[in-house]
Amino acid sequence: MPKIIFFAGHDHDTWEKTGGKGVRTNLEADGVYEEFDTNYIIAKGAVELLQKQPGFTVLFPQQDKRRMTLKERVAYANAHGADLMIDVHSNASASRTATGAAAFYWYNSAAGKKVADIFAKHIKANGLPTWSGGTYASQATGWSSFYMLKYSEMPAVLTESFFFTTRSDLENYLLNPKVQKVLMKIHANIALEFFGKKALDTALDSVVLPDGREVVKIGSRGADVKYAQIALGRHGFETDVDSIFGKDTDQKAKAFQEAKGLVVDGIIGAATWAELEKKPQPKPVVSKPAQKEEEDMEQTAVVINGTADAGTATLLAFQLGCGVFFRKDAEKRQVAKEIYIAGGGKGKIKGDKLIDLSGKTRSDTAKNVIAKLK
Ligand SMILES: [Zn+2]
Repeated sequence: MPKIIFFAGHDHDTWEKTGGKGVRTNLEADGVYEEFDTNYIIAKGAVELLQKQPGFTVLFPQQDKRRMTLKERVAYANAHGADLMIDVHSNASASRTATGAAAFYWYNSAAGKKVADIFAKHIKANGLPTWSGGTYASQATGWSSFYMLKYSEMPAVLTESFFFTTRSDLENYLLNPKVQKVLMKIHANIALEFFGKKALDTALDSVVLPDGREVVKIGSRGADVKYAQIALGRHGFETDVDSIFGKDTDQKAKAFQEAKGLVVDGIIGAATWAELEKKPQPKPVVSKPAQKEEEDMEQTAVVINGTADAGTATLLAFQLGCGVFFRKDAEKRQVAKEIYIAGGGKGKIKGDKLIDLSGKTRSDTAKNVIAKLK
C-alpha cells in the first residue's frame, strides 16, 4: 500500500521566530498572511481527499500545525518509509509581477520529474498559469538546492502554487476558495496518478473569478480580452477591440489601474475586473433643440431609455460619430433619419430607419450594442 507524506512549507510563526525567513504578504484590507497559512490549507485538503481513497496510507505530521525543522521533516519521511513526498509551498520573487505555478524536483530523479510533470499537467488542464513551464529541476548547489529534495530518500516534489509575493496571484488564486479547492485536488491527483490510479475530476471546480471573468494580461487572447478592451474604452481608455492583449491594451490597462488607484501591473485580475465592470461616470447626454429644417436633421442617432443604458450606447454613438438622445425626446420629434435603439424597443420613436438593439434585459441590450461595435 503506497505511503504518501505531505508537508506544508514553513511554520505558522516562521516570520516572527526567524526574523523574516519564509514569506509573508500584508494585504492591508484583508489582514496578514504567512505562506504557511495557504500551504497548510492546500496540504490538509489534499490529505483529506486522499484519505477517502482506498489503497493509500497518508502521513501528515503537521496536522496539528506543530513546528518542525527541515531536518526533522526529512528524517520523519525517511524513517517512516514514505513512497512519495509532496512538500506544498508558494513561490516568492523580488519581482512583484511574477506569476504561475511550478513543481521542483531533484535534477537526477526521473521519478521526481514524473511527479512534477503530473502537477504541471493538471495546472494547465485547469486553465491556471505556470511558471517556468510548470516544472523546475533543482540543482545540487545554488538557490534551488532545496534540503527537502536533496536529503529525502523517496520520489519527492516541492510544489510552488503561484507567487505569494505577487498581489494578483495571492488575490486571484491563493486566497480564492475555488482555486484552493482545485489545488487540493491537483495535489491529491499527483499521488493518485503517480501510483496509477484515476485522477479526481476538477472540471466541476473550473476556475472562475468572482465576477465570472478570466485573468487577462499581455499575450492573452479571446473573449475576455475583447470585453476588457470594450470596457477600457467605455471608461475613456480606448484601444483596438481585437481580442488580442497587445502593447496598447497593456498601456491602457495600466493607465486605467493608475487612475483607479489599483496596483499598476497591467494584469486584469479580480480587483481590476471589479473596477472595469462598474458603470463609468456617465458622459453628458445632450438633447438638441428641435430642428425646424429637414436638412438640419442628424443622419444618425442612438436612443436610450435612461442613463443606466448610457455606458455601451455612448460607445456606439462614439463609433458612429453621432449623438445620444433620450427616448422621451425621440418620441416627441424625429431626432435623426437612422436611429439605433438601445433599450425599450421601438415604441413611438420617430425615424426613417429604426434599428432596434433592445434585448429582454438591460444586459441583453448591452450585449446587442457591443455586438454592433467594430
Ligand atoms: Zn515556501
